[in-house]
Amino acid sequence: MPNILDDNNWLDFEKTHVWHPYAPLEGALPPYPVKHAQGVRLTLEDGRELIDGMSSWWSVIHGYNHPVLNNAAKEQLDKMAHVMFGGLTHRPAAELAARLVNLTPEPLQRVFLCDSGSVSVEVAIKMAIQYWYAKGQPGKQRMLTIRRGYHGDTCGAMAVCDPETGMHHLFTEVLSEHFFADAPTVVSDADWQDDDIANFRNLIETNHEQIAAVILEPIVQGAGGMRFYAPEYLRQVRALCDANNVLLIADEIATGFGRTGTLFACEQADITPDIMCLGKAITGGYMTLAAVLTTAEIGTTISTNAPKAFMHGPTFMANPLACAVANASIDLLLESPWQERIEAMSEAFARLLIPCQEWEGVADVRIKGGIGVLELNQPVNMVSITKRFVDKGVWVRPFGKLVYVMPPYIISDEDLNLLLTAMTEAVAEELGAVC
Ligand SMILES: *Cc1c(COP(=O)(O)O)cnc(C)c1O
Repeated sequence: MPNILDDNNWLDFEKTHVWHPYAPLEGALPPYPVKHAQGVRLTLEDGRELIDGMSSWWSVIHGYNHPVLNNAAKEQLDKMAHVMFGGLTHRPAAELAARLVNLTPEPLQRVFLCDSGSVSVEVAIKMAIQYWYAKGQPGKQRMLTIRRGYHGDTCGAMAVCDPETGMHHLFTEVLSEHFFADAPTVVSDADWQDDDIANFRNLIETNHEQIAAVILEPIVQGAGGMRFYAPEYLRQVRALCDANNVLLIADEIATGFGRTGTLFACEQADITPDIMCLGKAITGGYMTLAAVLTTAEIGTTISTNAPKAFMHGPTFMANPLACAVANASIDLLLESPWQERIEAMSEAFARLLIPCQEWEGVADVRIKGGIGVLELNQPVNMVSITKRFVDKGVWVRPFGKLVYVMPPYIISDEDLNLLLTAMTEAVAEELGAVC
């Protein structure tokens, strides 16, 4: 396959023609071209190597170019890359559904496989609405969520993202109006006070006749601000959903598959949602795929009442290639000492990030499982801090005031040290602080 762009200036074409996430087409910091990646290292076109602190946004938990995942993809590729899921099925989809049912809490028994996290949130919202429709309550069409959340970029998902960081004012005519409770502020169960749920309780008790479901990210609010909250909040939410005939959707797209120290964040509160969204790490970062799990009761209710069909079905539903890699990735995870690695990350974060708490310019240091966060007082200068990271041989991608890492689980203690040292040095230099 010949390249049609010149070796010397293909990047110039890319810069002016190709959009990147949440970036302008022109005037942005030019992206770094990656030639290949292996383990926890990205190799740039110019030969520089960067230790990856981001796991390509929570997904590459086993590292890049993993032989087991490569093989799973190659073997499936030789059978078929894709086949439509309407009227047809295949072993990799059934195998993945079985693994997900086994892995998640017992009541979650039915599986919808779709293309991306955002789409799985759309599916979850539609599932909740169609459930109440099937039960003769078509008036329950709205969602209740908590501020500072992030659930994806499609319109249905965006409508339940934080209204300010999600820029709802830009899209008012297309976004559905939902209910927003204050973001939880209580961090540990020991500090729990009944007041912590008061605003949420008020909203659900007043509006439950219109509310199909509560949707939230359990324990860790990711892209909306990297905030962690107490398991007790989640237990209270579960109880209030039950008391008010409202379903609970847990968006575990970022937290699923071990990142917070338990396989799913819901386990930390010992609750089961009625609907769970999974994505990101599901294929170990190889391909886009997501899953929505729900209970047998919800599945049966939707399927035995008009229109019976669940009204969703993307072209690439249950893509066999992605399912095959997901199966291999899940097996790899379960066979690995992932809890130990997450604990090792937590310990390294405690050792190397907590001291930054003393620095002027650092507002907060937060650690949860394999997530380490420095919150600064001011938004970072992306141009200069990104250059510092790359010069120091690491890949860290801050947003706003947040400089954070969630490395691949396979990162060695040595590389973790290098990553965190570079991260804190770069922040110190930016702040003009003394280490
Ligand atoms: C990333 C993310 C999504 C969206 O997933 P995409 O695959 O980017 O569409 C939804 N919810 C949460 C919690 C996420 O972190």
